[in-house]
Amino acid sequence: MENNAKKVEAIFPQGQKGPAEVFTGNAYNYGLVAPDDVFTTAVGNVYFEPGARSNWHSHPAGQILIITDGVGYHQVEGGEIEIIKKGDVVKCPPNVKHWHGASAHTGLQQLYIVPNVEKGIVDWMEAVNEEQYGQAEK
Ligand code: MN
Repeated sequence: MENNAKKVEAIFPQGQKGPAEVFTGNAYNYGLVAPDDVFTTAVGNVYFEPGARSNWHSHPAGQILIITDGVGYHQVEGGEIEIIKKGDVVKCPPNVKHWHGASAHTGLQQLYIVPNVEKGIVDWMEAVNEEQYGQAEK
């Protein structure tokens, strides 16, 4: 099926473009819950345009992703690229190196939940290069 024309629905505003130092392509973050002393949790939405993805990174306290539309990829270092899509829930355990983003032809809308932010939110690493990203198409 040709996905080029598939429309990815947005629930939340698009938000701010993520910095090129830690995202390849266009990714937008919209914060929904700012961490505070009571909930110590950060919640927000990221929209990845087709082909856009995060750098490799880890979360000191882990992260939960809830995919609300589109098609994307998630990969833990040393593992295969997994396809993620609307309705999927992904748990990224603490301190596990991984990346996530859109597929090549369809964007991705993902909610993220980062618990226990007093431990830290994200430790950024190197970009996911074209060869690594291209493995998803094989
Ligand atoms: Mn992550």
